[in-house]
Amino acid sequence: MNSNYKIPAPINEPILSYAPNSPERIQLKKKLDEMIQTKIEIPLIIDGKEVKTGHMASCICPHDHQHILAEFHQAGEREIQDAIESSQEAWLKWSIMPWEERAAIFLRAAELLAGPYRAEMNAATMLCQSKNAYQAEIDCVAELADFLRYNVHFMQKIYQTQPNNSRGIWNRLEYRPLEGFIYAITPFNFTSIGGNLPTAPAIMGNVSLWKPARTAVYSNYVFMKILFEAGLPKGVINFIPGPSSAITDIVLDSPHFAGVHFTGSTEVFQMLWKRSSENLSKYKSYPRIVGETGGKDFLVVHSSACPREVSTAIVRGAFEYQGQKCSANSRAYLPKSQWNAIWKELQEQLSRVKMGDVRDFSAFINAVIDKPSFDKIKGYIQYAKDHKDAQIIWGGTCDDSKGYFIEPTIILTTDPHFKTMEEEIFGPVITFYIYEDEKYEDTLELCNTTSAYGLTGGVFAQDREAVILAEHVLRHAAGNFYINDKTTGAVVGHQPFGGGRSSGTNDKAGSEFNLLRWTSIRNTKECFTPAKDFVYPFMDEE
Ligand code: NAD
Repeated sequence: MNSNYKIPAPINEPILSYAPNSPERIQLKKKLDEMIQTKIEIPLIIDGKEVKTGHMASCICPHDHQHILAEFHQAGEREIQDAIESSQEAWLKWSIMPWEERAAIFLRAAELLAGPYRAEMNAATMLCQSKNAYQAEIDCVAELADFLRYNVHFMQKIYQTQPNNSRGIWNRLEYRPLEGFIYAITPFNFTSIGGNLPTAPAIMGNVSLWKPARTAVYSNYVFMKILFEAGLPKGVINFIPGPSSAITDIVLDSPHFAGVHFTGSTEVFQMLWKRSSENLSKYKSYPRIVGETGGKDFLVVHSSACPREVSTAIVRGAFEYQGQKCSANSRAYLPKSQWNAIWKELQEQLSRVKMGDVRDFSAFINAVIDKPSFDKIKGYIQYAKDHKDAQIIWGGTCDDSKGYFIEPTIILTTDPHFKTMEEEIFGPVITFYIYEDEKYEDTLELCNTTSAYGLTGGVFAQDREAVILAEHVLRHAAGNFYINDKTTGAVVGHQPFGGGRSSGTNDKAGSEFNLLRWTSIRNTKECFTPAKDFVYPFMDEE
């Protein structure tokens, strides 16, 4: 207490290799076998207590959709009201708890996650969201631990930011949490985002209601257990899986609603913004609306680029985790002079890509998340198959007999505004448009104006002038811009993540900019020698 404590400097969690015979691989395989054989029951967690409603839904394996991992209880109106009430009770203590005590809880959670829970967390994410071992490791262990460690570091950095003082005056900024609760609505595709959205506000002294995605409840629940083991007080984060619209209706009606921390699709985010605006007069304060949504992430390749490097960036950027990353590369503009060389390299690399169950460690691609996603992606592929302006040059097969499997698919179009060049598909599908080399600048402009999104994108070029031009023309086209790299894989503390335009509020997850949204600053001016008369010297007689 009587000290200006220093938070341990954040170090990014090392990513383990899971190479054959490594101890982490042996442990993970054992955990996968154990968890696949044990069906569990998942309760809600409200006020630190397990709550069972009997209104059940299932968690399945997307790559083996008949396999049920868990049955989970879903929240109804009563449980949401209880969660709000408990959060307000918890707020009384949590909002004034010394920051170093709060920090210790989240730092301990990071250690538990990266240590004793590592295999369980990875196995849960692999089985429930159909990620391979590497994709799970970089998400639910490395990125989530990074979010926790960096966010407490950024919290202290924010608290250290103080104004100037003049003689006899002391000015102090106090970074108060918001009054009320934060509604954290999380997506299926990153367990790390699931964990970050309720904890980032909590690190700043807020309380959260966490509504996980239906298809990620199984892995998100593991993190909830870690938080409690790390010492999170009851009611600070209440875990309320259940029907989205019904829960949201109740939450947005509460006068205690102080903000939403959302990641997911653009339509849902826009609905949340509209609904909270309509209810504005009900709330005690103006809610903070923070959301990251979809993308139509691009790669513009210049004729000076290396074809091998371009094809590697496409295979990884477009197809890792089945293209279900908001940053997944889903359109590429390729120069005519390089097309044959790039295509040759791509075919060579893609012919080595294997698709399968997550327990087969040689599979690079696994299944897409669920039946609605499968049908949606298949619909886009069929549209391209049927259309005269496009042809499928790689993949295109969809098979949901056992799991929701879609082959990595490349569409080649002659229309730069073809539907799959403009709309987010959120699957392993990329569309190519080949341009005349001399039209490079026009192509950059085309790329800039083709989609409503502004999340990630990149340029491949060895010619510096071409890079400079791309940086300039595409200035507002991406919140995360890459030069000679794939469009995915932002690392906490290194590439703060988020985009503008329809992609979100660009508050940069895992950064101090995001944390600032969860505080309401109080300035205190203290005067050591208060004035004793209203008269100023200029008012004196000459
Ligand atoms: P989604 O919008 O379907 O679901 C996200 C969350 O919103 C889930 O918890 C879901 O249950 C909830 N939800 C759905 N309908 C709702 C409603 N009517 N009211 C309240 N909540 C509702 O998105 P998803 O399929 O889980 O995730 C994919 C989307 O997320 C893609 O568009 C992707 O680009 C985006 N995403 C963006 C980022 C980013 O940082 N920009 C990161 C990951 C995912």
